Amino acid sequence: SSLSRQFSSTSRIMAPISKETDYLVIGGGSGGLASARMAAGKFGTKAMIIEGGRLGGTCVNVGYVTSPLSETLDNTICVPKKVTFNAAMLAEMMHDAKAYGFSLEETKPFDFTGFKHKRDAYIKRLNGIYERNLNNDKVEYVRGWAKLISKNEVEVTMEDGTKENVRAKKILVAVGGNPTAFPSDIPGSDLGINSDGFFDIENLPKKVALVGAGYIAVEFAGMFNALGTETHLFIRHQTFLRTFDPMIQEGVTNEYERLGVHLHKDSKQSKVEKDPATGKLAITYTDSNGEGKLEGVDHLIWAIGRTPATQDLGLDKAGVKTDEKGHIVADDYQNTNVENVYALGDVCGKAELTPVAIAAGRRLAERLFGPEQFRTAHLDYSNVPSVVFSHPEVGSIGLTEPQAEEKYGKENLTIYKTSFTAMYYAMMEPENKGPTKYKLICAGPEEKVVGLHIMGQGSGEMLQGFGVAMKMGATKKDFDSCVAIHPTSAEELVTLK
Ligand code: FAD
Ligand code: NDP
Repeated sequence: SSLSRQFSSTSRIMAPISKETDYLVIGGGSGGLASARMAAGKFGTKAMIIEGGRLGGTCVNVGYVTSPLSETLDNTICVPKKVTFNAAMLAEMMHDAKAYGFSLEETKPFDFTGFKHKRDAYIKRLNGIYERNLNNDKVEYVRGWAKLISKNEVEVTMEDGTKENVRAKKILVAVGGNPTAFPSDIPGSDLGINSDGFFDIENLPKKVALVGAGYIAVEFAGMFNALGTETHLFIRHQTFLRTFDPMIQEGVTNEYERLGVHLHKDSKQSKVEKDPATGKLAITYTDSNGEGKLEGVDHLIWAIGRTPATQDLGLDKAGVKTDEKGHIVADDYQNTNVENVYALGDVCGKAELTPVAIAAGRRLAERLFGPEQFRTAHLDYSNVPSVVFSHPEVGSIGLTEPQAEEKYGKENLTIYKTSFTAMYYAMMEPENKGPTKYKLICAGPEEKVVGLHIMGQGSGEMLQGFGVAMKMGATKKDFDSCVAIHPTSAEELVTLK
């Protein structure tokens, strides 16, 4: 889009760029950076990375940054989203602290604006690390927008508007995606913002409306609600997070209602208007309660998915195939249908997560440029752990129950479930106690764990270790043979009956 194609910082003197390279990476996000750095830094390949926006990609600029303590991209931490999630958690805990006998006099409201500026400054400090890392690894960094003009040549529109052509032996397309456009059939939809705009909000809104049912809508709605904003979440069905196990969908949807998020189920918006006097928005909609108009909305946030950045990329010139959604079709080895053209990360639309893009990028660099033992290196996309930073957090690895039934047959599955109140809530009144729910899906007589789904406090931190166990092919017996850690919530997963 034209917006994403603006250069993000002031112009500067441009160094001449190479006319030829061995490994040309389009897109300096999670996947592209990881791959280019490994190719050049570890295997000495002549590599170039072309980035039109800010180095670091979606994760830095709208979701994440790399830990300044880390020389690799392994320790990605989620800033500013995770920092905002932490603020929301603190707000919840301060509320909970009263039940333990603390008296926290709130003489001043939460300084959201101060928090936001501090968060911005933190990110700015971290931004420079990407360029330094590329320099250290001797990757040639070109600021510009690339377009394929053949299967081994790209045209780069440089920051100053000039164009340069570069030929490459191998090309990696790692251009990620952008928030899906505002629905064109809803008049006034563009009065809203998307997930990029969320991080520009300067003042804590009094009232927000979010549309969407995936990670982003659910995470943002949970944060606003915990920070005291009147939060309306418009979903098209009865539950959200519908790609997750039914226990999670229903569990978190019910919990959001209990926490006071205004859920508009089976909803559809027909019009968005702006009050010229107040600047506030009004949304006309229908939901399971009939027709309605929500007025006085400070921000409307569309979080209805992401669209791969494959338009205007010249894929047709190189003959690279995309699917009906515009995602590049790549095989298990990140090969596209065109020899020496590869693709990975969000642009392929499979497990759109930063660590997935990084791991795929590294495996590809190893396979293409590493020694013989890496000839078959590739990322195994099975059992990728994933966390939604909702309230409470959700963690998921492997198959959902419906997926497992389809793959193994219902009769070959054993399902273990538990639902309990974590000890954290011991001091609280019943109406303030949140649920914790865990489920293990085991297949075959050996009860191999093929699905693990958890919701409850601390799930994000709990999941990684269980991910290792599942990657090693753990069975229910292996889980049970691990001695419990008491008293924790996690111990329930090794004592399921
Ligand atoms: P990107 O990081 O999007 O990088 C692509 C880069 O290519 C961009 O910098 C873009 O400017 C550049 N580019 C595009 N076209 C061109 C071109 N023609 N020429 C030159 N450059 C180009 N994942 C998690 O694992 N955990 C989370 O908690 C999490 N939170 C998220 C929160 C939000 C709000 C969002 C939006 C995403 C979140 N994600 C999270 C997903 C994660 O950010 C992505 O999966 C990841 O960034 C994908 O990496 P990528 O390299 O494929 O693409
Ligand atoms: P998702 O694809 O996860 O979810 C979008 C959902 O919104 C759809 O599944 C759909 O759900 C609903 N939707 C689509 N169109 C409309 C519409 N017109 N009106 C109302 N609802 C609609 O996209 P996100 O934008 O949430 O996130 C993109 C990706 O980024 C995620 O899939 C994830 O991979 C990654 N991410 C990861 C995070 C993490 O790891 N913690 C955090 C944030 C993002 P339905 O069919 O139920 O209506």
